[in-house]
Amino acid sequence: MPDHFQGYQINKTDAGQTCELKQLSDDDLMEGDVTIQVEYSSLNYKDGLALTGKSSVVRKFPLTPGVDFSGTVISSEHSGFKAGDRVVLNGFGVGEVHSGGYAQKARVKGDWLVHLPDGIDSRQAMAIGTAGFTAMLCVTVLENHGIQPESGDLLVTGASGGVGSVAVAILNKLGFRVVAITGRMEEKDYLQGLGAADVLDRKDFSAKARPLYKELWAGAVDVAGGNTLANVLSQIKYGGAVAACGLAESIDLPASVAPFILRGVTLYGIDSVMAPLEKRDAAWKRLAQDLDMNLLEDLSFDLDFNDLPRAAEDILAGKIRGRAIVKIPA
Ligand code: NDP
Repeated sequence: MPDHFQGYQINKTDAGQTCELKQLSDDDLMEGDVTIQVEYSSLNYKDGLALTGKSSVVRKFPLTPGVDFSGTVISSEHSGFKAGDRVVLNGFGVGEVHSGGYAQKARVKGDWLVHLPDGIDSRQAMAIGTAGFTAMLCVTVLENHGIQPESGDLLVTGASGGVGSVAVAILNKLGFRVVAITGRMEEKDYLQGLGAADVLDRKDFSAKARPLYKELWAGAVDVAGGNTLANVLSQIKYGGAVAACGLAESIDLPASVAPFILRGVTLYGIDSVMAPLEKRDAAWKRLAQDLDMNLLEDLSFDLDFNDLPRAAEDILAGKIRGRAIVKIPA
């Protein structure tokens, strides 16, 4: 592969952050022991923040954004990888402090990479991406908590977004009755197509929460935080659990301790960025097994590489449905 390649680069100037698509060279690659030809990346909420500069997600300059990618190893000095291996990467500060997926080439630490499991190709890996991987981590903690389909209905908030859509699809395949919460009731058919048994309007969860409501749900996957998470917590059944991974509504949690001390509810925090390698391998293998690849196709769409800056605004405005796959030009 030539020394020069195309990629986005974020720079910091006196006027603020700039982001341009430009010709990069191998000198722009960061430290690492594996060089990869990037085939696909995706657009996550955090990428929206990085591309627009609306939050200080990028903390090293210059930097290629893109918190996840899949591709083929070009060269490796890491014992776990060799040229030709198919790999996926999400997290470890890639797209934040280490150059990421929005370029034709990346150089990273082999310790951050996962071999793509059989049953997931490089495009499907990015249809899943960080959001889908995080959804799998959420599902896993609820299962490990002991929640089973017989325990009762599960809620998924922000259901039309990336994490939410994949969570609905996985939970449905695992036999759970899933209730989706969305601010876009026009996406009801889409959510039912992914397997939601019922779809509720987000506005019913957006007022300040009372300490406790009627016990309705065995558990929940929450991407919203804020009043939504507080309301969800007060409706969880005795002994149930919530996996919280996002702040699409707010970083605050205006809740009381009543669900924890009176109903034994557990709140699990989910982090995908620094998740250890064993957890990553297990999650990717389970995605190959427990996510219906036809539904993955339905919940994802292709986003043009050149269109990333505009789409970044859309994801922050909550206008992106499901998962946006970015094919990196060959
Ligand atoms: P998306 O933008 O694809 O989805 C977020 C969804 O949240 C929106 O589609 C919308 O769904 C809902 N939403 C938007 N605004 C609000 C609001 N004000 N109140 C309640 N719900 C709202 O993002 P992702 O799915 O990629 O990420 C979701 C969240 O999870 C983000 O906060 C992200 O930072 C976080 N995240 C965390 C990770 C971790 O490691 N902890 C990893 C990946 C993501 P709808 O229209 O259906 O209501």
